[in-house]
Amino acid sequence: MKVLEKAPAKINLSLDVLGLRPDGYHEVRMVMTTIDLSDRVECESIPQDIILLHASESYIPEDGRNFAYQAADLIREKYGIKEGVRIFIQKKIPVAAGLAGGSSDAAATIRALNRLWSLEMTNEDMQEIAVQIGSDVAFCLHGGTALATGRGEIIDPLPDLPPCWVVLVKPDVSVSTAQVYRDWDDQEAVHPNVNAMISAVQNHDFQEICRQLGNTLEPVTVKKVADIARIKEHMRQIGAEGILMSGSGPTVFGLTQKESRMQRLFNGMKGYCREVHAVRLSKSLDHLSKYE
Ligand code: ATP
Repeated sequence: MKVLEKAPAKINLSLDVLGLRPDGYHEVRMVMTTIDLSDRVECESIPQDIILLHASESYIPEDGRNFAYQAADLIREKYGIKEGVRIFIQKKIPVAAGLAGGSSDAAATIRALNRLWSLEMTNEDMQEIAVQIGSDVAFCLHGGTALATGRGEIIDPLPDLPPCWVVLVKPDVSVSTAQVYRDWDDQEAVHPNVNAMISAVQNHDFQEICRQLGNTLEPVTVKKVADIARIKEHMRQIGAEGILMSGSGPTVFGLTQKESRMQRLFNGMKGYCREVHAVRLSKSLDHLSKYE
């Protein structure tokens, strides 16, 4: 039997870091939302006692470094599963881009294996696996819009955002999340108003959401990737209503509710950068749920 799951990317509408904890993690407060740009994760049982992982792109690790592989490994161990699994990941989400592609693949693998092996995992069981893999996996299990606190693993749901378009522009460089956080430690931080973003989301106030977009990591990554500032300025001139770098970057997103403006942004940025996507928000995890 084969199980398919969608693994949607996320963007951060507000990202604040409160400080470095004694355990080495950073304490964060983030408002995140999933978007309609998804990898596709396919899991199939195999009789051999082994995890076989293949990805559509050659630069994605296919061993224990892959977060989806780690998810399968942890689940097999915890539930004493003797059969193996073949995992195929069709990548669409840009890698090391601040869009949590790897974390979303891991979350999709947890959901897929829960179904494939009829494990009847509760949300808590899935979260227990998620936190062992990475801080963003818990949010990716949840999807939609939420406040993530702690090291990112404590999730409080928020209402869906008003409908809008998201235009994503990824400069031709990748950044290391760990390095960005280390650099953040050494700099004077600029803090966004996370509470104001939460209120804007609760009030379904699109213009206020655009005004409150903020990311304490953005000035850190901009120092290394000057293109981010240029992309932001270009998007502003074309008419994006709100613009921000997502996560640790370097992807920049622009929001607009007008389809004509989305088209202008997409076309304008396409001539500027190779990797440009125009997508909608993804309200909830509408799983592919296809059994073959
Ligand atoms: P975040 O926003 O959570 O910081 P990101 O979007 O910056 O994440 P990812 O695309 O998740 O970054 O990739 C970060 C690193 O993780 C890559 O360098 C890659 O080698 C590794 N990785 C592990 N598993 C995967 C996967 N399934 N897909 C892509 N990258 C993966």
